Amino acid sequence: AHIESYVSPHLQPNGQLNPFSLEGKLALITGGGTGIGLEMARCMATAGATVIITGRREAVLQEAVADLGSSVHYLTNDVCELDTLEDLVAQIEATHGPLDILVNNAGINMKKPALEVTDEEFTRIIHTNLNAVFALTRVCAKRMVERKNGVILMISSMAAYYGIDRVVAYAASKSAVEGMVKVLASEFSKHNVRVNAIAPGFIETEMSRTAMNSDPDRRDRAMRRTPMGKFGQPSDIGHAAVFLASEAARYITGASLPVDGGNSIGF
Ligand code: NDP
Repeated sequence: AHIESYVSPHLQPNGQLNPFSLEGKLALITGGGTGIGLEMARCMATAGATVIITGRREAVLQEAVADLGSSVHYLTNDVCELDTLEDLVAQIEATHGPLDILVNNAGINMKKPALEVTDEEFTRIIHTNLNAVFALTRVCAKRMVERKNGVILMISSMAAYYGIDRVVAYAASKSAVEGMVKVLASEFSKHNVRVNAIAPGFIETEMSRTAMNSDPDRRDRAMRRTPMGKFGQPSDIGHAAVFLASEAARYITGASLPVDGGNSIGF
């Protein structure tokens, strides 16, 4: 459809649905109680979606939902407990109807030189950022493929593309997710299920503040590597997520969209 106006999130003056609208859509965002996930939930709800956020800390989710309004709901869930994911999605669909959008956002990081990373630490990060992403994607995609409708978004990282010191497990997990996106996009394309990644650069959240604070020079180095000269906000990822989840992106699949103030231009 030709885009006449971006003013109304839902109906345009001519009565046609704005292609950026998520009106009538149901989205599940893992790790939606904080940071990037919280702002993606806010942006998707603003675009008209009903949004379910998950995470391990109920108090955090409760506070998020109180802030986000009546179209956002929460369920406490640990994505690492893979055998709970089928029930999670079944419960969501029994209450709210068919799931249209999955955003694999929950993730963990740790900064440590590679030689000091233990097997347990490496496995914990891979389990959260990769194994759980595949397990939940499989649960949701089965339903989406059957219904011939769905959008899956992975929150990757520029750490998937560049050698950033002291994030060996995190980089391995995000690179693997980028590979997964291409295979899933190819396999699901004939079923009208799109799969894309967003690769955020330096976004100001609890996770990045912790990383910056652990290394005083890091903030300066990060800033020098960011052509736009400022860090991103979680809502910058939220807007990109709305776009990729919407009809406006209906011909985009298997892509990874950098949202990074120009980090990916190179040096
Ligand atoms: P936060 O730490 O604020 O958010 C991570 C969220 O994931 C939390 O809400 C946390 O909630 C949830 N989470 C973690 N582990 C689990 C689990 N096992 N089960 C369910 N939920 C879980 O970080 P960000 O918002 O910055 O990160 C969000 C995503 O963006 C991550 O995938 C991260 O890798 C990615 N990213 C972030 C960048 C940045 O600069 N901030 C840059 C590039 C990528 P709880 O602890 O309650 O479970």
